[in-house]
Amino acid sequence: MHDFKYKNNNLYCEKVRVWDLAEKFGTPLYVYSYQTLISHFFKLKQAFEPVNPLICFSVKANFNLAILKALVDKGAGLDIVSGGELFRALKAGCSPKKIVYASVGKTNYEIEEAIKSGILFFNVESFSELENIQHIAKRLKSRVNVALRINPDVEPKTHKYITTGKLTNKFGIDFITAKEIILLARVFSHIKIAGLHIHIGSQITIPEPFVAAISKLVRFAGELKEEGINLEYLNIGGGLGIIYDQEKPQTARKFADKVLPLLKKTGLKIIMEPGRFIAGNAGILVTKVLYIKNTPKKKFVIVDAGMNDLIRPALYEAYHKIVPLSSQVRKFLPTGRQEASSQEKADVVGPICESGDFFAKDRVLPKVKEGDYLAVMGAGAYGFSMSSNYNSRRRAEEVMVVKDKVVVIRRRESYEDIVRNETIPPFLFGL
Ligand SMILES: *Cc1c(COP(=O)(O)O)cnc(C)c1O
Repeated sequence: MHDFKYKNNNLYCEKVRVWDLAEKFGTPLYVYSYQTLISHFFKLKQAFEPVNPLICFSVKANFNLAILKALVDKGAGLDIVSGGELFRALKAGCSPKKIVYASVGKTNYEIEEAIKSGILFFNVESFSELENIQHIAKRLKSRVNVALRINPDVEPKTHKYITTGKLTNKFGIDFITAKEIILLARVFSHIKIAGLHIHIGSQITIPEPFVAAISKLVRFAGELKEEGINLEYLNIGGGLGIIYDQEKPQTARKFADKVLPLLKKTGLKIIMEPGRFIAGNAGILVTKVLYIKNTPKKKFVIVDAGMNDLIRPALYEAYHKIVPLSSQVRKFLPTGRQEASSQEKADVVGPICESGDFFAKDRVLPKVKEGDYLAVMGAGAYGFSMSSNYNSRRRAEEVMVVKDKVVVIRRRESYEDIVRNETIPPFLFGL
C-alpha cells in the first residue's frame, strides 16, 4: 500500500499533485510520502507487538537524514553498515542504544568510533573481526556487546546479487564455527556475546526461507543455553519483499503469524532490520521525456533520469512500474477498453553512455510524447542511496510530502558540488 494515487487523471502523492512538484523542483526528482513511510513502520511494529521488537531501519536502503529522523521519532532504531552511516544515524538523533552495526569489513577506525559512541552491538561476521573488536575494546577500556551474524545456509529465492544467507556468500559465520567461536569467546575479556543475527537476503516474498533460517537460529540458541551461554538478543535481519510488479509478498501480519511462535518461545529480545519494506514504496523517481526515438527495431523513450539516479534495473534487472503523471497521457492507460493504438512497446532509457542505462525494456506503455513526465514507482529504497555522479551528473533533488505540504530534504547538487573535493596540482599549471 502506498499514498501515490490517481485523482482526476493526475498522479498525487498524498494531497499534492506530482506534476506540480516536477514543474516546481525540476527533474529528475525523488518524491517521498511521509505517510507511506511511517505507516509501513507501524504495520511491522503492530504485527510484532507480542514480542515488542526493536525495529532498526536499514540505513543503506535510504540514508536521507529526514527519512531517518522521521522513523527515529516514531521509535525506530537504525541498522548501519559503515562509519558514514553511524555518522548519519547520530546526526538524525538516533539513540546509540538503538544502533546495530553489520558489515564484513569494518575498519579499525569505524570500530573505534562505534565503540566510543556506545552502539547497542556489532553484528560480527568473522573470528578475525571478533579478535579485532576485542583488541580495540581493550585499548579503549570498554566492554562491548556483539551478536554473531550466522550464515544459516538457506535459499531465499531472490536475485542472486541480493542473496546473503548461503554458505557461498561472504556474509556471516556457519553454525559449527560460530559455536567454536562462542565457546572460545568466553576468554575474551572485553566482549560479551549478547546475541545472534541473521540477514538472509533482500526482496524475499515468501515466509519459508525466513522460517527455515529462524528455526535453525532458535535451535542453535537452545543448544547454547544447554552449554550455559545465555543470550539476550535475537536479530532476524531484514529482507521482506514488496510489490514492484505482480509479486504477492507476505504482509507484515502473515509474516508475523509464521515467525512469532518461533520467536516467542526463545524469550529473547527481538531485533528486526527492515529497509525495503519500510521505504521501498514510499518513494518515486520523477523524470521527463526528452526525446522519442524510433529505430528500425525499437522505440526508445529517452528520459532525463539515468542509471546514476536509479541503478536497480541495470544492476539487478529489477522491474519498476512506470506511469505517466499527466491527465492527457493517463487517459490512455490500459484499462482493457482502450484502442490498441493508444499503447506502444518501448524501451525507457536514460541519457548515460551505457547500454545498461535503462528503466524498462520492451515495456507496453501508454503513448507518451516529448515533454511528458513519467514516474518510476517503488524507488524509495536502494534508489537515491545507490545513486552516483557517473557522467558528471548532479544527484537528484529529494522532496518529502506530508499531506498537503512539501519539504525539500536534499537539494539538487550543483556543478560546484561535484568537483568540490578535487584539486589540480600546481605542476599541471607549469608552476
Ligand atoms: C541490507 C540489509 C538489511 C535490509 O535489507 P532489506 O531487504 O532492505 O530489508 C538488513 N540487515 C542487513 C545486515 C543488511 O545488510
